[in-house]
Amino acid sequence: MATLDLDRDDLFSFEDNFFSLMALQKYDPKLITQTRQAWQEERKFLREVIAPVALAEDRKHAADPHYISWDLLRLAARHGRLSNFIPKIMGGSGKGAGLSMPNSEEMAAVDAAYSGMLGGHGLGLVALLMTFNMKVVQRVAQKIVENESKEKPYVIDCAITEPAAGTDVEEIELYPKARLSCQARKVPGGAVLNGRKVFISTGHMAADHVILMPFDIKDAVNTYGCFLVPTDAKGFSLGRKERKMGQRAGPASELIFEDCFVPDENIAMSALEFSEPKYRGQFKALLEGVLGLTRTAVGAMSTGTARGALERALALARRVKHKGRTLIHQQWAQALLTNMFMNVMMARSVYFEAQFAIMTNLGGGGMSGAMPGFMNSDLVRKIFQSRGVQKIFTSTWLRKKMLDRMIDLPPEQNARIQFMSSMAKVVGSDMAMENCQLAVEFLSQAGLRHDQGVEKVFRDAKLLQIFEGTNQLNRLNMFKHAFARRLPGVEVF
Ligand SMILES: Cc1cc2nc3c(=O)[nH]c(=O)nc-3n(C[C@H](O)[C@H](O)[C@H](O)COP(=O)(O)OP(=O)(O)OC[C@H]3O[C@@H](n4cnc5c(N)ncnc54)[C@H](O)[C@@H]3O)c2cc1C
Repeated sequence: MATLDLDRDDLFSFEDNFFSLMALQKYDPKLITQTRQAWQEERKFLREVIAPVALAEDRKHAADPHYISWDLLRLAARHGRLSNFIPKIMGGSGKGAGLSMPNSEEMAAVDAAYSGMLGGHGLGLVALLMTFNMKVVQRVAQKIVENESKEKPYVIDCAITEPAAGTDVEEIELYPKARLSCQARKVPGGAVLNGRKVFISTGHMAADHVILMPFDIKDAVNTYGCFLVPTDAKGFSLGRKERKMGQRAGPASELIFEDCFVPDENIAMSALEFSEPKYRGQFKALLEGVLGLTRTAVGAMSTGTARGALERALALARRVKHKGRTLIHQQWAQALLTNMFMNVMMARSVYFEAQFAIMTNLGGGGMSGAMPGFMNSDLVRKIFQSRGVQKIFTSTWLRKKMLDRMIDLPPEQNARIQFMSSMAKVVGSDMAMENCQLAVEFLSQAGLRHDQGVEKVFRDAKLLQIFEGTNQLNRLNMFKHAFARRLPGVEVF
């Protein structure tokens, strides 16, 4: 059985890839050392464990549309890949300390489908984190850690898209025109959900589902709730699993709610829960906070995908002959491969700028994808787990403080995060597609053959231009935040 031959042993080291981090080393040596260690460990794991099974896994999906990549998920779990971003103070391994974006790039460079599979889970976690409901966040973190060695590892997803509302739920100004159909209803002791969500990443693998749904469709932005729904909840069912062209290891699922009751303890956020009107702004803060982080992460994934295409093309160029000479010795091939390399470097520069925009405008720490060192200290863990600290950590007082910070973020700071994260996503995914296009054309027959890997990267890459808001929508979002807000009278949406 053919496996991926990445043939790229240390062509590029950490130092070759991440110049801006090298510049930062002087100011925060610990952060950079942790980032390097986590990246090296991740790279080793990906090459040794994921690369050998990636193509075979893709073929299983082609052969059986109902196939679920449990084996791949178990591999990730067994190697601690579901909990490495959970700090030690919350019971995780904390191995993913440092900046996380380089690891997202690495995952996609080896297998964009694997990174897509974990992406749905990551999206769910970011959405939950942005509710700042630490009781629910801690419960979920604990389940991830406890179930990592089990037959069915614990993962979550995040559902906002509805059958007639995709782009419209990715942009706050489009909500009043959106054709929403899902609605929650408050009942004693909880809420009842009705409706259908579609194209939800990781849906058929998730044990709990993070559901975003309004209490009033006509005033959706001000009435959204965030609900944690277990797969075995009464009134919940899984619908179809989409037969999609790429990233097949991560199922895209339909979720169905028919009078599905969610108890109060599983309502992570409700825009109606506080009496102060300002907290009606929770959902806008959550949506923009989530998209700022996840679009940057998609930028990193896309950079990895662009690099995956380059590395496979490079490997084949050393074997494929054209007019009796291997491609790698031909000038036109060298120029083309260099173009692909430039695309990778451009995409990486933009996602790093986006990461820095988050760090400087929102603050460092976990919220920007960097786990601060103290979160892995044994001493801090003991203090953190004490009853007194837990009481404060899970208190409404602290939750409101964190919500205030997001809701009151100055518009110019928010705008920088929004347009940079959209740019990371658009530039990265466009570069990924361009590199795939170049690689397939360059390699001709070999580029089209499944066993050579480039064909799979091509199919995996296309999806990056669509999720987290289509690239068209993200371009408009960039225009809104970079230009329109400075130009009176210019409206975008
Ligand atoms: C693989 C995959 C995984 C996904 N995972 C998730 C997930 O985990 N959770 C989740 O909630 N959703 C998920 N989605 C849904 C995704 O976010 C939507 O597909 C995306 O937002 C686009 O919505 P749509 O497909 O309904 O397209 P539509 O909204 O129908 O758009 C169709 C076309 O019209 C354009 N368009 C629409 N409105 C405008 C406008 N106002 N201005 C300019 N152009 C416009 C779009 O750019 C697009 O080209 C996933 C999608 C895919 C493909």
